[in-house]
Amino acid sequence: MPTFDYAPAPESRAVVTLQPSYGLFIGGEFVEPVAGGGMTTIEPATEKVLAEVAVADERDVDLAVRTARRAHQRIWSRMPGAERAKYLYRIARIMQERSRELAVLESLDNGKPIKESRDVDVPLAAAHFFYHAGWADKLDWAGFGPNPAPLGVAAQVIPWNFPLLMLAWKVAPALATGNTVVLKPAETTPLTALLFAEICAQADLPPGVVNILTGAGATGAALVAHPDVDKVAFTGSTEVGRQIATAVAGTRKKVTLELGGKAANIVFDDAPIDQAIEGIVNGIYFNQGHVCCAGSRLLVQESVAEEVIARLQARMTTLRVGDPLDKNTDVGAINSQEQLTRITALAEAGEAEGATRWSAPCPLPRKGFWFAPTVFTGVAPAHRIAREEVFGPVLSVLTFRTPSEAVARANNTPYGLSAGIWTEKGSRILWMADRLRAGVVWANTFNRFDPASPFGGYKESGYGREGGRHGLAGYLKEAGL
Ligand code: NDP
Repeated sequence: MPTFDYAPAPESRAVVTLQPSYGLFIGGEFVEPVAGGGMTTIEPATEKVLAEVAVADERDVDLAVRTARRAHQRIWSRMPGAERAKYLYRIARIMQERSRELAVLESLDNGKPIKESRDVDVPLAAAHFFYHAGWADKLDWAGFGPNPAPLGVAAQVIPWNFPLLMLAWKVAPALATGNTVVLKPAETTPLTALLFAEICAQADLPPGVVNILTGAGATGAALVAHPDVDKVAFTGSTEVGRQIATAVAGTRKKVTLELGGKAANIVFDDAPIDQAIEGIVNGIYFNQGHVCCAGSRLLVQESVAEEVIARLQARMTTLRVGDPLDKNTDVGAINSQEQLTRITALAEAGEAEGATRWSAPCPLPRKGFWFAPTVFTGVAPAHRIAREEVFGPVLSVLTFRTPSEAVARANNTPYGLSAGIWTEKGSRILWMADRLRAGVVWANTFNRFDPASPFGGYKESGYGREGGRHGLAGYLKEAGL
């Protein structure tokens, strides 16, 4: 039998020019950190060093916050919305012009497949700037009363799973509403934020409106704790979210937290099975499962469970795991050794607690951080893999018999970020959506994002919304919804 396979189709990395080292972006230029020194960022697919980046300490944080304050008072808060909008449009257009460069850099630094950074991360990031540019001169009509006022300086801390997209979710609404920004990207994925800093300069954004401080958790903690910050916006783990909520308690700072999730992807026996299989795969293997709203718990109706699992496993054997820059790759590299260790430990706990593990039989590269797409069956609700956020390509399958049982199982989690429903009955979708305690409920699709649609969690998945009109409220004074 002849075998048909894909020939390698690598995206060229020549479009990216990396500097050997990067400073901090404060006041519209790159400056050296007060303490000097830095850290390296590596390519998770090869473990090769990509660049050295600065580490900001309290003194750099203080300088950046003072710079952002000045830019807010003297320029940005006084500028008419229509003028601010022009800058946002300009940034969006430059992001589109430099989209290939942004996509390749994102895949290099993060490990995600180029087809995802190219088709999802970068276009959505640009869309967030376009969308918010449209709001900048219409805030008077957004339902927040006349002349809604910005808060001032926003401290923004983002994770490594969607580095550029999370930056866009944070920076675009902040600027549209007249705030200035100090943003800290994640330690392992600073490079697209630094390229974004270049884009801000290219767009002639007034110096100090956007400041970018690289560093690790301590830099984020110093930024959040700075007394002259008016707003804290955080996306990341629930554990760090708790620390941030504690750090800002009792201050005047306004906070939004977008934290972890353990979403149920619920498949009924009348679902279009082929579509549902694609939705399950997209729900958990997209971005190596490093997705806060990943459909990491598959709840499947008992009568079709066997068929769904067999078809899912057949589909999983076709997933191509490997070089993130290859345009055929479906699943890229795990972002860091630390994350790989965490995923491995939770998968081992799944086996130890009695669930049955099945991993796609794919060859994994020898260098770099890799984890084969994996599914656990025979999972009990009390198992760690059914309760904890794995944040990797690991799916736990549970079954149910009735819609009420599906709702009870889906809501049996401390999280509440997202959920998916697969059924042909519209009435059932509405009945379920009404009862699911999740910020986003997808019906016959999964992991769909749009800047116009608010995103955020219930319970330990955080509070506040990002995107849409609701997302503007987090950056305005006394905003009512
Ligand atoms: P963190 O929550 O630690 O990281 C998110 C961001 O916060 C990073 O920029 C981080 O910096 C920064 N940070 C860390 N500590 C503090 C602090 N005390 N104060 C302010 N900022 C801080 O996530 P991790 O990268 O450590 O991942 C740990 C686990 O969290 C993952 O395994 C995953 O389960 C979950 N996670 C969930 C995300 C989600 O969206 N739901 C996103 C990321 C992680 P630095 O990168 O330097 O540590």
